[in-house]
Amino acid sequence: MDILAQRSRQETQVIDGIDAWLKSHPDQPRVAVISLAMLGMPRLRAHPGGLAGETLIRNIHARIQQVLRPGDHCELLSDGECLISLYGIKNVGHAQLAVRRLLHELNNYSDEAGYRVHTGPRLGIALFPDNASNAPTLVHKAGLALDMAKAADQEFLFYSQGHGQEKLFNWNIDQELERALRDDELQLHYQPQLSLANQEVSGVEALLRWQHPEHGHISPADFIPLAERSRIIHPLTRWCLHTCLRQLGEWASLDRHRNMSVNISSYNLSDPGFAEMVGNALQLWHVPAPRLTLEITEGALLEDLDYATGVLGSLRRLGVRISIDDFGTGYSSLSYLKHLPVDELKIDQSFVRNILNDRHDRSIVETIIKIARDFNFSLVAEGIEQEAALLLLDEMGCHTGQGYAIARPLPHSALMNWLENPPALKQHHA
Ligand code: C2E
Ligand code: MG
Ligand code: MG
Repeated sequence: MDILAQRSRQETQVIDGIDAWLKSHPDQPRVAVISLAMLGMPRLRAHPGGLAGETLIRNIHARIQQVLRPGDHCELLSDGECLISLYGIKNVGHAQLAVRRLLHELNNYSDEAGYRVHTGPRLGIALFPDNASNAPTLVHKAGLALDMAKAADQEFLFYSQGHGQEKLFNWNIDQELERALRDDELQLHYQPQLSLANQEVSGVEALLRWQHPEHGHISPADFIPLAERSRIIHPLTRWCLHTCLRQLGEWASLDRHRNMSVNISSYNLSDPGFAEMVGNALQLWHVPAPRLTLEITEGALLEDLDYATGVLGSLRRLGVRISIDDFGTGYSSLSYLKHLPVDELKIDQSFVRNILNDRHDRSIVETIIKIARDFNFSLVAEGIEQEAALLLLDEMGCHTGQGYAIARPLPHSALMNWLENPPALKQHHA
């Protein structure tokens, strides 16, 4: 049988496996397929010693199996590529976790003699039911994502039909963002956070804005995931931190002591110098550490909980506050809260948005408020769009609120005007 026919038979087996799993697990229907190729394959095949190349490939395959959870499956295809099925994942964060583990193993792989082997992994990922409604399409889309990852010279790509992603897809994001940083195309907008008990502004969250000369406004929701796949996320976060802390220093000189929340990415935590960089920036701008809150999304934290716990611990020892963003969307078990060095939970806006009309969302928010109280975390509700929701959250015992009902994210000068004359506050007092 030639290699292509053999490959298609193997793909069919993978598809059948996914179909069978979906039939027997109708309640947890999320599956990810990772299509994995290794750019180093020609050299692996030529590894010295006759059959040694094939043995090496089989050993790598065995290592991949060890990285996966029990029940997940890796099929080594005849051409050396692999199809990996991750069963019953809760969300995209779990697929990202697997991707990071695979990349870590493959990028640090040594042969039996201890020599580092250049594997050059490229991964394309597709999710069921998000990207495909059946198993053959799922496998096909993982393959397309792999082709895209190879073409864009990215280590991995999630399949996406998203307009923003497609528009940005062929960019060299490193160069574009480097230029944007240099040419001042990036800005931070600040969204006030209101202490609900006394209606005072307790702080602001910094949110990135990119005004591209050709493409106009590009949302951080589109470009941050791309920046995360390249090293540019590190200088980008450094720029945000320094810009915010410089700003905080200026506000202090005006005797306006606000807190600043800055979003960071899980990829920042994997930078061994991150905590030190934050410490140096605080010193440089003379900002007391407790006035800085670093927000990290719950999904990102769960990607590598042990590692995150360590880095967040060092940040907290500096005195910086840690907040779990989009809380309630990413967890599989709440037990992680016991071990994580955390100060604040931010209730995800999807629960806050319908709090006035949806009793399930209200009861989720009640539960999160109770958790925050028991664990002694402070609590921010984000995405408050109606004043009635703000009042209800206050009654329910939520400390702090943020959302369009209070103010939209504002450029610095508009924020200064708003602080002088906060319209939402007046209504609230009335
Ligand atoms: P996030 O940190 O959860 O930020 C909240 C998002 O909700 C912001 O979107 C904000 O503009 C929006 N928002 C605030 N109030 C309301 C409201 O009442 N209703 C609705 N519908 N939306 C509201 P934005 O600015 O587009 O940012 C999207 C995400 O991009 C952020 O979610 C954050 O995860 C990420 N991001 C933004 N800036 C940065 C950054 O500097 N670094 C990193 N790593 N990520 C960032
Ligand atoms: Mg945030
Ligand atoms: Mg959020």
